[in-house]
Amino acid sequence: MKFNTKTIHGGQENIDPAYGAVMPPIYQTSTYSQSTPGGHKGYEYSRSANPTRTALEKSIASIENGNFGFAFGSGLAAIDAVLKLFKPGDEIITTKDLYGGSYRLFTGIFEDFGVKFHFIEMNQAENIKGYLNENTKLIWIETPTNPMMNIIDIKAVAKIAKANNLLLAVDNTFATPYLQQPLELGADIVMHSATKYLGGHSDVVMGSLVVNEKQLADRIYFIQKASGAICGPQDSFLVLRGIKTLHLRIQRHCENGAAIAKFLKTHPNVGKVYWPGFEDHPNHEIAKKQMKDFGGMISFTTKENTLESATKIVEKLKVFTLAESLGGVESLAGHPASMTHASIPKEEREKTGVVDSLIRLSVGIEDEEDLIQDLKQALG
Ligand SMILES: *Cc1c(COP(=O)(O)O)cnc(C)c1O
Repeated sequence: MKFNTKTIHGGQENIDPAYGAVMPPIYQTSTYSQSTPGGHKGYEYSRSANPTRTALEKSIASIENGNFGFAFGSGLAAIDAVLKLFKPGDEIITTKDLYGGSYRLFTGIFEDFGVKFHFIEMNQAENIKGYLNENTKLIWIETPTNPMMNIIDIKAVAKIAKANNLLLAVDNTFATPYLQQPLELGADIVMHSATKYLGGHSDVVMGSLVVNEKQLADRIYFIQKASGAICGPQDSFLVLRGIKTLHLRIQRHCENGAAIAKFLKTHPNVGKVYWPGFEDHPNHEIAKKQMKDFGGMISFTTKENTLESATKIVEKLKVFTLAESLGGVESLAGHPASMTHASIPKEEREKTGVVDSLIRLSVGIEDEEDLIQDLKQALG
């Protein structure tokens, strides 16, 4: 099955044996009747499993070309489940310009539990080698990174992970499986904030994991059930519905993203533009190799390079909404330094390029001309 068919049919065979509904029913139930103790039809309690969630988990596994899918109450709940695979003394190597919430979870919770994190530059995969020791257990990456749009070579990192017996987890939220399939490139775990492109309509908060290995899947299932950070059936239905148009939406996000990136690059009031589709992007060649297209996420600084100039622009935008989050049908503008990345100390975030004048755009699927017109009037 090709990707554009998988988004609609992947893992959805015989979805409603009772009445043949084309969409899975929303099983709004916490429990299931048993004919005799232990005599159930595969479901006993909705923390362990729920049929609507199962339908979604199968769909997510299918579009990521993986064997096992898991859905959680948020992206961070999914990351939290991965980190619970480890124990005090274990070490994790991760990127410097990480999603702010991941950084907060790593440093604010798991460091206290004795897990050690190395936040390193990964534009060159080779950099990882200097941080490896016998306690290293996981490499956690995001690509493209949030919000600096750096590209990490998944295949090269996977090679290092394999050679050293480590797990590689990829936060694939920005790219989506339409653009990039980390398991195919050698990763062990793919994570999504399904809140973003998978859901696609800014109406639900959810996270997911996909893996291939049975043993790893069993452990993640145990953690999902034991810790209980699951999502409800209504939300599962919404994300399943979102995935059915993923391929169409991402195509338009990419078209609009490319047009806006090019527009910004030539505007006199814009400083730097970060978008992996530019030939002068430091890892453009890797982006071209591992991604189908370049996505709808763009960051830029103002020419003045001040907080005031960035504030003025985001306040003036009319079609773009000033808001956290990304990946919905509507265009959003964010100010990472005060919003998504406020949990990273100023000194740390400026080192990676998240300066006060940086604006991040999640380009939606509206008409391209309206979006460019809006940016034009806001930039003045
Ligand atoms: C939003 C986001 C997360 C966290 O997901 P939630 O659903 O908000 O918990 C993790 N990684 C990236 C790249 C994100 O954009």
